[in-house]
Order: sequence, then C-alpha cells, then structure tokens
Amino acid sequence: MSADVETDVDVVVVGAGGGGLAAALAAADAGASVVVLEKLEEPGGNTALSTGSIPAAGSRFQAEAGVQDDPERMAADLLRQSGPHEAEHLTRRLAETSASLVEWLVDDHQVRLKLITDYKHVGHSVERLHAPPSRRGIDLSRDLVAACEGAGVDIVRGNPVAELLVDDGTVTGVVVDGERSGRHEIRSRAVVLAANGFANNRDLVARWAPDLVGLEYFGAHGSTGEAIEWGVQLGAQLRNRTAYQGYAAVAYPHGSILSWTTQEKGGVLVDATGSRLGDEIVGYSGFAVEVLRGSAPIWAVYDTRIRDITLKEEEYAELVEMGGAKVCDEVEDLASVTGAPVEALRSTLEAYAAAARGEQPDAFGRTDFGLAPLEPPYVASRVTPGLFHTQGGLEIDADARVLTEDGTPVPGLFAVGGVAAGISGQQGGRGYSSGNGLLTAVGLGRLAGTAAAAG
Ligand SMILES: Cc1cc2nc3c(=O)[nH]c(=O)nc-3n(C[C@H](O)[C@H](O)[C@H](O)COP(=O)(O)OP(=O)(O)OC[C@H]3O[C@@H](n4cnc5c(N)ncnc54)[C@H](O)[C@@H]3O)c2cc1C
Repeated sequence: MSADVETDVDVVVVGAGGGGLAAALAAADAGASVVVLEKLEEPGGNTALSTGSIPAAGSRFQAEAGVQDDPERMAADLLRQSGPHEAEHLTRRLAETSASLVEWLVDDHQVRLKLITDYKHVGHSVERLHAPPSRRGIDLSRDLVAACEGAGVDIVRGNPVAELLVDDGTVTGVVVDGERSGRHEIRSRAVVLAANGFANNRDLVARWAPDLVGLEYFGAHGSTGEAIEWGVQLGAQLRNRTAYQGYAAVAYPHGSILSWTTQEKGGVLVDATGSRLGDEIVGYSGFAVEVLRGSAPIWAVYDTRIRDITLKEEEYAELVEMGGAKVCDEVEDLASVTGAPVEALRSTLEAYAAAARGEQPDAFGRTDFGLAPLEPPYVASRVTPGLFHTQGGLEIDADARVLTEDGTPVPGLFAVGGVAAGISGQQGGRGYSSGNGLLTAVGLGRLAGTAAAAG
C-alpha cells in the first residue's frame, strides 16, 4: 500500500473497471471520501478491452440526431432479447436512468462519448449505443480514471482485496493482501464490489455456468469471481447465473474483435466443411456456442462493400492492416484461403444468395440479409468463438444494495457490473443485448456510489 492511502474512508470500491470508477465518481460527487482498490497494476479490467458502448434511451445526443427513443422502449427491447429473468427490476431501473447516465459522464465529467449511428447492434430497435469516438473501451477507462483523479479519488493499484471485514452482519471495510501491498485493513461505511464476474476462474465456471466450459476466455485477468463468493458467504443469492456475453468472431490469431458489422451487413460464418453454422443474426453473443460446435477453422466470409463500410471502425481497420481480412476474387480463391472444399463453399454461398433474393427460405431462418447476396471480390477473416464475461451475479436492489435470501440488504454492501445479477436473462449467451455489460457496470456503479455515499 502506498504510505498515504487513507485507512478509514466513507466508501471503499473494489475494482477499477467501469463499474468501480463510476461508483467512485458518483460517491465523490456526493461528497464522500473514496478509495478504489485495484488488484492489478493497471486500472481498466474488461472495460478497457471493450468497445466502450453504453446504451441510453432519450439522451440529448439521440435528440440532436433525430432519434426517437424512451426508457419504456429500451426496457421492452432488452426484455425481448433477454426473455424473462430474475432481475427485471434492474432492466427497468437502468433504462430509466440511462440517458442521465451518459449525460452525467459527458457533461459533468468530460468522458468522450458519442451516439453511434452507423449500427444498432444486437437487441436495440433504434440507435442508442453511446461510445468513445475511437470505439475503444480504453478511452472510456482513461477518461473515467482522469475524472476520478480530478475529483480527488485515490485509485490504488496492485492492492488485491482478499476478504471483507464484517462486524455482526454489517460490512465495515476490507482486508487487502498482496505480494507488493502486504496485508492491511481499510475501514469504511460502505463497500462497493466492482470486481467483475467469474469468467477467468475455471472452477467457478464449471460450478456455476457449465455450458461455458470449452469457450476460451478473452477478457481481462482480474475476473476471478472472489467478490461474488464473498456475497454468497454473507447469504446473498446468485441470480441469472448462467448468462454470459460470448463473442462468435474473435479474430484469429490476432485476438481482437472482428466487428459484427461484417455479419449484420450480410456476411456469414463457415466452418472447415464449407457450411454455415446457423442464423448469424441471433447476435454475436448467442452465436458463439453455435460456432463452438463447428469444425475449425471457422472463417467469416463477406465482401469488399461490407469491408469498406466496416473500415470506419478503428479496431477493424487495424485488423485489415494486420492482414486479418483476405481478399478473394473468386470462390476458388476463397476455398484455397479457408481450406474449405470449393464445391461445398459454392453451394453454401449460392443457397444463401437465393435466400437473400427471396427465392427460397434461408436454411437457418435468417431474415435480415443486409447487402447480401455477397458479390466478388469476397473477403475472409479467420475467427474463433470466445467468452467475454459472465453476466450472472449477486441479487441486488434498485440501488445496487446486496440482498440476502429474505430480501433484506446486507448492511454496507453494494455490488455492480459483473459481480451483480445482470440483465441478460437465463438462456446462456442468447439474451445479451449490446452494451448490457457496461450498462450494468457504469449504470449500477453510479447508483451504488450515490447510495453508498448517502449511507
Ligand atoms: C473484448 C470485450 C469487448 C466488450 N465490449 C463491450 C461493449 O462494447 N459494451 C459492453 O457493454 N460490454 C462490453 N464488454 C463487457 C464489458 O467490458 C464488461 O461487462 C464491463 O467492462 C464490466 O465492468 P466491471 O467494472 O464490472 O469489470 P471490469 O471492467 O473487468 O473491472 C473489474 C476490475 O476489478 C479488479 N478486481 C478483480 N478482483 C479484485 C480484487 N479481489 N481486488 C481488487 N480488484 C479486483 C479487476 O482486476 C478489474 O480491473 C466487452 C468485454 C470484452 C472482454
């Protein structure tokens, strides 16, 4: 621990990702003294790896762009995608507070976010994703760190929280125990758990979300689930336990995201046999398990028109520069690049083109074809499916207070982001709408920080 860290503060935040930084900022706004403890050497967590997209309904940025939207519509969209679930009150609460969330970030704290009008992505009926102009979560994370520092919040790196201090059922602080930090206690009136989920803990994945075994994890190292275990030990229930965000198309071997715009605009994924794997439009998260069932190597196939549209996205442009999008003049070239049998590939593309022209139903029920039929020159990107984060977690109330089985709060304890019950339903990766990860992190973080400061 650095010598000047307070050992008695109003609010301790565990984890310096989007959820923790937003909680810290809101608590500081409300006049509380706050320390953020981060176990790794750098803040950011999964937030820094994301595209930084936060959904919001009825924001002034939507109004300026002429987009009609409201929280009821957003909640209905999210619930349509998620299906019924165990934390629907959070879906509604987050939709209701989403516009003020992005405006608070931009107007009060100079976080760079703008409305994305190029695509809506999964689960949204109108344009409502607000993201850094670069579409990189690292910018969101850096801006939140700068805002916290400006507000006098101490962000202490390399300080893993090992356990909670609990006096007679009330959480009264934390114990830090790390190689560099040593073991020490910090006392506080409230603790906000913002340490993300359990996707990087094989034992917990096998115990709590066995469907995910086999999906390679592509998120940050810190998501090892200990904060969820502390809550369970204090009597909290796990809600929406099996939900997660998968990603069907992580660029291989680059490890970056192949933008789903390539699929929404008409591309398909094919496996080593030259066959498609399902209806790509179920979304990048739900489709990940379908891709896992295909025979590797898996390739995304689209065309140069779609490539040129997607080039607006910085991460995709970098992938192209690194050789991750191979141009193929004919189906024969596509076969030689992907290794799939040429006749099988040709018949897959012909059947898909016929469906896109409305001549026959699509074999997998796809109804939105973007710019398809695909036209040569084709473009091929090799991909692999991945797990990005778990969405299930501790049951909380509308201000992110952790609840025990009988619905009473654990005094002094809040949970946000991947530690808390998510809003992505109970059907694995299928219920995930774009932005659900950051909405439950940053959105619940702000609510938790405000409530924690109020005591
Ligand atoms: C590649 C990728 C792309 C994504 N894109 C999007 C997107 O565009 N939109 C979206 O909504 N979601 C996206 N997600 C999901 C989103 O990033 C996460 O849901 C969100 O960042 C979670 O925020 P968080 O604050 O809960 O966790 P994190 O940002 O992971 O922060 C948690 C922090 O807690 C620290 N920590 C853990 N345990 C301890 C401990 N014991 N003591 C101290 N510190 C601890 C971790 O090291 C970490 O820094 C993406 C995820 C990935 C991997």
